[in-house]
Amino acid sequence: MPSEIENSSQWVNAAAELVIAGKKLKVEMPVPAGPVRLSDMLPFFRYLTDSFVGLAEENARAAGATVSCKKGCGACCRQLVPIAEIEARHLEELVGRLPEPRRSEIRARFERARQRLQAAGLLDALLEPGQIAEEAVVPLGLAYFGLGIACPFLEDESCSIHAERPLACREYLVVSPAEHCASPSAESIEPVKLVVHTAKAIRAMTAAWSSHGVRWVPLVLAASWAETHADTTPLRPGVEWVREAFARVTGRPV
Ligand code: SF4
Repeated sequence: MPSEIENSSQWVNAAAELVIAGKKLKVEMPVPAGPVRLSDMLPFFRYLTDSFVGLAEENARAAGATVSCKKGCGACCRQLVPIAEIEARHLEELVGRLPEPRRSEIRARFERARQRLQAAGLLDALLEPGQIAEEAVVPLGLAYFGLGIACPFLEDESCSIHAERPLACREYLVVSPAEHCASPSAESIEPVKLVVHTAKAIRAMTAAWSSHGVRWVPLVLAASWAETHADTTPLRPGVEWVREAFARVTGRPV
């Protein structure tokens, strides 16, 4: 049972059998029966993402490809990672629960990253992600990657919050040689092909229900975003969030 929602006394089983690119996928997980906030559904969204990514990995292997990503290879953890604001808040809470001195170390990494972005002239744009035009995202991402700022959670080139890493991190896998990830380009990087883009769907769902209405928040600014933006998503029964999530990831009406 997900620990993030221990206060809920009643759970219902959310189950569905989906057909994705001709393959059957059964998903099943307990979710809160009563009203909860969207952020309380993160364990379910992680499970859903992992299920779809697992299917995509299976397809890649069946086609003869090898997934290059493994522990100790964190080149992609210097990219600009888009997360939903519910994930930003979750990461801030996670850091707040860490014992000292680890908590202060991680907070200091966030602060150093912020200072690097300010010095490079990228901070103002990234603090207002809602104002960034779609066509400006890629150039901004390249400029960000050029700074080589490691994610504050990257340690010994591995993710120190692997079980709770954001949905976008879960979806990013490549079948191109790992050494290409240090200088990625559209030609040199071949991602594992996803049929279902759960992270993007959950970011859109969060934006639709939050009064802040931003499509994404940069992971590297998660801490400061969470401090200045309260959770304004409504309370809804867990199954209603699940129904909407299924509709958004499959593109079918609720
Ligand atoms: S959260 Fe983990 S997987 Fe995601 S960018 Fe940071 S270190 Fe990498």
